[in-house]
Amino acid sequence: MSTTLDPTRVTAPKIRQTGILIGDEFRPAVSGKTFKTYNPATEEVICEVAEGDSADVDLAVHAARAAFETGPWSRMDARDRGRLLNKLADLAELHLEELAALETLDNGKPINDSRAADLPLAIDCLRYYAGWADKIHGETIPVRGDYFCYTRREPIGVCGQIIPWNFPLLMVAWKWGPALATGNTIVMKPAEQTPLSCLRLAELALEAGFPPGVINVVPGYGPTAGAALVKHPQVDKIAFTGEGLTAKIIMREAADTLKRLTFELGGKSPNIVFADADLDAAAAGAEFGLFFNQGQCCCAGSRLFVEESVHDEFVERIVQRAQQRVLGNPFDTETNQGPQVDQAQFDKIMTYIKRGQAQGANCVTGGKRFGNLGYFVQPTVFTGVSDSMDIAREEIFGPVLSILKFKNADEVVKRANDTCYGLAAAVWTRDVKKAHQVAASVRAGTVWVNCYDVFDAAAPFGGFKMSGIGRELGAAGLANYTELKTVTMSMG
Ligand code: ADP
Repeated sequence: MSTTLDPTRVTAPKIRQTGILIGDEFRPAVSGKTFKTYNPATEEVICEVAEGDSADVDLAVHAARAAFETGPWSRMDARDRGRLLNKLADLAELHLEELAALETLDNGKPINDSRAADLPLAIDCLRYYAGWADKIHGETIPVRGDYFCYTRREPIGVCGQIIPWNFPLLMVAWKWGPALATGNTIVMKPAEQTPLSCLRLAELALEAGFPPGVINVVPGYGPTAGAALVKHPQVDKIAFTGEGLTAKIIMREAADTLKRLTFELGGKSPNIVFADADLDAAAAGAEFGLFFNQGQCCCAGSRLFVEESVHDEFVERIVQRAQQRVLGNPFDTETNQGPQVDQAQFDKIMTYIKRGQAQGANCVTGGKRFGNLGYFVQPTVFTGVSDSMDIAREEIFGPVLSILKFKNADEVVKRANDTCYGLAAAVWTRDVKKAHQVAASVRAGTVWVNCYDVFDAAAPFGGFKMSGIGRELGAAGLANYTELKTVTMSMG
């Protein structure tokens, strides 16, 4: 056996933090319980992580409350908050390889993606919001009478942030950036499948100099730790990214304390290819739009509408691309598709594939498990999909593409909008007028024209309809984290 190191393989990182961060201390759960986090590529346990529940959430919320009301954070100049965020971004950049490897280990995503997408986007997001910290201000308002009236934008207070496992660190950045830039304090619950990168970034936040209690992290399960955060009377706001069904529970549970809520939820995004499009680019975009991150994207272009006259030719291109995808060890730099995150997701995807077949769609490639270790699913493409099939209506969150045929723009827009979701959409055409008409008619929070999955920290993202409430990123993302106060003073 060769002893030479393969430079295309990255070794697994050391796990430094597995505790609950409360104040400036990583500690075991009050109950002493732990849960296992798994490597989805090998199904092996990576390590045990402290399992927080309501007792830990309570301690974390008190730490966050104290930091918000009396700690140095509450008196810190806005510009200094920005400096801390920039410092955290610098530390994340310094530890980029380690964080990328943690992400790949815990989530299964290809190391190339962790390095080139998740980490750079997360760092960019922190820097973007660092820049906002000292540029958030109110207005003076010319009211009637002898009064001086102005507004102030103040932090909301303690923000509970509950995130999913598909982009663990990026979701941390999307949540921490605007919350910290505006002066809030945080109790975060990372997803139980992927707590490791969040814990490491929290450790780096302490190193950057964030005062104790500003950022608290309680790993654990949704119905225990997550639910405790949602119900806690000292939590002012919940920002949640995940499934619609969970959002409904959160909305009900938050009703008693009337918390501010922002949601970023699922989708069944239409990706519309007109016959006059650059079909090479459209095929590459359709592949990327669906298969990126193993199809585990809330904005995945999972309904691919192709104009009738180019349908068959386009299907061929897509099938070829799907078959050329490289599945395997996510630490291998050749790999562009890793495993699904866990057994539950794998099973759900396989159920949808079976249902697609049972309901009469043609599975033209894929449809099976890949290999016999890890939660890998073959890139799967269905043709002959009709609008009423489950694979055209429900979010699969896996590498399963449904291709639908259409005749003209009016028809496709109507069908694209025939969904309870409204997160994203894309349109491929060389006709500028048609592009803008479709962009205006599709009811979705983001429309990409001749591209897919183009994200920028400055560009708002979020859903129409049942895909969400509020917007993340950009200036819009700041509004989720401030209360507007009106001050009126008599000048008489
Ligand atoms: P996904 O299918 O992406 O895992 P979920 O909505 O189940 O979507 O999970 C997203 C996040 O919500 C996770 O951190 C999970 O632990 C949390 N969560 C799940 N159920 C609840 C709940 N009842 N209350 C609060 N958080 C929850």
